[in-house]
Amino acid sequence: DVTLRQVRKSYGSLEVVHGVDLDIKSGEFVVFVGPSGCGKSTLLRMIAGLEPITGGEISIEGRVVNDVPSPQRGIAMVFQSYALYPHMTVYENMAFGLKLKKTPKEEVDQRVREAARILQIEPYLDRMPKALSGGQRQRVAIGRAIVRNPKVFLFDEPLSNLDASLRAQTRVEIARLHDTLDATMIYVTHDQVEAMTLADRIVVLNAGNIEQVGSPLELYRNPVNTFVAGFIASQR
Ligand code: ATP
Ligand code: MG
Repeated sequence: DVTLRQVRKSYGSLEVVHGVDLDIKSGEFVVFVGPSGCGKSTLLRMIAGLEPITGGEISIEGRVVNDVPSPQRGIAMVFQSYALYPHMTVYENMAFGLKLKKTPKEEVDQRVREAARILQIEPYLDRMPKALSGGQRQRVAIGRAIVRNPKVFLFDEPLSNLDASLRAQTRVEIARLHDTLDATMIYVTHDQVEAMTLADRIVVLNAGNIEQVGSPLELYRNPVNTFVAGFIASQR
């Protein structure tokens, strides 16, 4: 599980995340939504350990991680801009992080092939990234995360660079991935359909605060205020 207790973030004198409390259960799929600049990416980056927190406490799998460096947090992050290494094949891109950690060669091979099977990118393992479509590249980026066998996946608008049909296809794949891996997933999106179809619970953020947390149906039926109602409705 992932727990946030009064998590704060300031840049200089400006506080952009104001004491956020959130309990995410193991295996849960949680989606963050909210207007541009409300703090979604900042929250993910703090959970990932890519950004120090200014106050409060973050726990992952029962361990306070405030002072744990990012690589030791057992999380993997997939961004909107999937920077693959252009001079490496798909296989090498996926294997690179494990090789850095001196993982035995047979284990690297097994994990890369398993991830490629799950994501249906086995035919492309020997290709260079430039010979892939955007959707295939994004799946390789997700594959790089899977091979590390993380307990927690963080996604920051992973599909926003894809066209509508690839977006729908990759969304289905991410849902299947969640069922297969039984990992905790925290997912940021602006897309109403992604939020409604992927989420066990949606967290609606506004200006560094949580407005409401609930299942898609709960938010749809019982928005706590006009902001939530408007935000859900505005995207329909
Ligand atoms: P978007 O939907 O546009 O991606 P977001 O919800 O992810 O927005 P954040 O990137 O988390 O928003 O930013 C939250 C606030 O923090 C914004 O007001 C932003 O300008 C500010 N901010 C983010 N990074 C920095 C930084 N390095 N220095 C100063 N302010 C920052
Ligand atoms: Mg963002």
